[in-house]
Amino acid sequence: VIQIRNLHKAYGSLEVLKGVNVTAHRGDVVSLIGSSGSGKSTLLRCCNLLEDSQQGDILFQGEPVAWNGKGHARSPADPRQVLRIRTNLSMVFQQFNLWAHMTILQNVMEAPVSVLKRAPAEVENAARAYLDKVGIGDKADAFPAQLSGGQQQRAAIARALCMEPQALLFDEPTSALDPELEQEVVKVIKDLAAEGRTMLIVTHDMKMAHDVSDHVVFLHQGLIEEQGPPETLFGAPKSERLQGFLKSTT
Ligand code: ATP
Ligand code: MG
Repeated sequence: VIQIRNLHKAYGSLEVLKGVNVTAHRGDVVSLIGSSGSGKSTLLRCCNLLEDSQQGDILFQGEPVAWNGKGHARSPADPRQVLRIRTNLSMVFQQFNLWAHMTILQNVMEAPVSVLKRAPAEVENAARAYLDKVGIGDKADAFPAQLSGGQQQRAAIARALCMEPQALLFDEPTSALDPELEQEVVKVIKDLAAEGRTMLIVTHDMKMAHDVSDHVVFLHQGLIEEQGPPETLFGAPKSERLQGFLKSTT
């Protein structure tokens, strides 16, 4: 579904991604791990066109998100195409970014109704079903400030699901949460993985990465230092940097 080939990204003179290759097939859960500043968030943001890039290709279901333009623009100029990509690659952020002045139900319904122009009644049914699915069906009429962090993050996941995306992108979905609330969100992510959702997850939670991933990618200073199945990456890491990183996180 998502193919990233030789991606390069710099902020001014700071090279953040220096030729990264990642593939997620349909139903794959791919986790991105690595120390702070290694470029994990930047990689996700490039997939979603929240950032541009300088070199390499990103293909989403074979459609170029960014590509070697050879003199042409590197990213789609057509806003409908940008919208299609963002809809199909729905992102969940560390800070849940819910609208404070809207109820949870309104938050979940907002983009499908106002951006995708879907019928409100139909979206409301779907939104309630997704809220039930993440275990906060009873909070539909509450405002974000009335929810715990774990509940807010689950609302943000319901909101992403309500876009009916082909794949979900998670950027540190549990790192703003207290450990006991973190587990509620991990459970939702595990359920989604078991359903066969395609997901790209940036996380500092090595246990979750171990449990949910088909493939784990360790980024170091903008390059992939090591990647493989979770059993190998966590059980028998080859790179010394990865060994050091794993020690520092436990
Ligand atoms: P963390 O684990 O702390 O979230 P990360 O791996 O997600 O780190 P990125 O956020 O991708 O790292 O950042 C990679 C590098 O790019 C860092 O050195 C960061 O300072 C720099 N960077 C990120 N965003 C910008 C920006 N908008 N402008 C300039 N530099 C940026
Ligand atoms: Mg980050």
